[in-house]
Amino acid sequence: MGKIKIAIVGLGKIARDQHIPSLLLSDAFELIAVASPHHQLDGMPSFGDLAALLQALPEVEAVALCTTPQVRYELARYALQRARHVLLEKPPGVTVSEVLSLVELAKRQGVGLFASWHSRHARAVEPARVWLAGRKILSATIIWKEDVRVWHPGQPWIWKAGGLGVFDPGINALSILTRIIPGSLALQRAELSYPKNCETPIAASLLLSDSGGATASIELDFRQTGRQTWDIDVDTDGGRLHLSSGGSEMTVDNDPVETATCSEYESVYAHFATLVRGCAIDVDCAPLQLVADAFLCGRCVEVEPFIE
Ligand code: NAP
Repeated sequence: MGKIKIAIVGLGKIARDQHIPSLLLSDAFELIAVASPHHQLDGMPSFGDLAALLQALPEVEAVALCTTPQVRYELARYALQRARHVLLEKPPGVTVSEVLSLVELAKRQGVGLFASWHSRHARAVEPARVWLAGRKILSATIIWKEDVRVWHPGQPWIWKAGGLGVFDPGINALSILTRIIPGSLALQRAELSYPKNCETPIAASLLLSDSGGATASIELDFRQTGRQTWDIDVDTDGGRLHLSSGGSEMTVDNDPVETATCSEYESVYAHFATLVRGCAIDVDCAPLQLVADAFLCGRCVEVEPFIE
């Protein structure tokens, strides 16, 4: 079986930090081109947009859309209409309805579509899911606090509508929680803190409940300096699960649990290869739906302007 010819669209931080290194090491994919309005990749055919790329290189079979979320839908539609397999970086779209319409289009076209949630591929997430299955969930707490100036320098799109603000990292936590908790989660209430000069929140508090009535409280904050925290605790009838470092480390009642060794993006691309080979669809909107619900019902509080 030959390697799948893939192109990256959107040559920004995540494309350079994760997608390109993972694809260069991949047995399943061959990275043959990139498209980005203002950047080129040394030694790789580079185009200003997806249309020019597909016109010049019709042999491209799959695209990884690593752009800002606000342009993802049109690019995905364009690629699916031309029967290319599509990997969507997270969040898969800026609205739930656009993601659902991509699912329909991918089905019609008979191609693979993957709404990737990279944090679900963090090393401890699958062991956590397995450990929680069959246990009674009593409560969960998420603390996801990071310094936006450190992790997202020069990314004004985060503060524009559709950029999600603090939900850009926060949706990673929700992607893990919705994966490891058996059953569905419903948003009960939310409070969103908007800087005076921004269209998206800089902090948020959420309360969720699961189908068994257990609650999950979630604190997201982009203003954290010093120690950064990406932690999830779940209390159950069989002990306390603690996930730290964004889902890469796990303890049960303070005892470390061994986890896989594969990196998040190696695992993301291994799964995408399976979807491409089977022309299959893996799109779970649950994390995006919870964020959309927070925007629907959240109480808004105005806070200090954000100046980078
Ligand atoms: P970024 O550094 O701002 O990069 C976004 C890139 O999108 C820019 O380089 C821009 O290209 C490109 N772009 C914008 N419009 C385009 C279009 N129409 N066609 C092609 N390319 C276009 O942002 P990022 O941090 O990489 O984040 C991108 C996505 O990845 C976000 O959804 C984010 O949530 C997700 N993500 C980010 C991280 C992270 O650590 N940063 C981690 C995981 C996931 P030009 O510069 O050439 O204009």
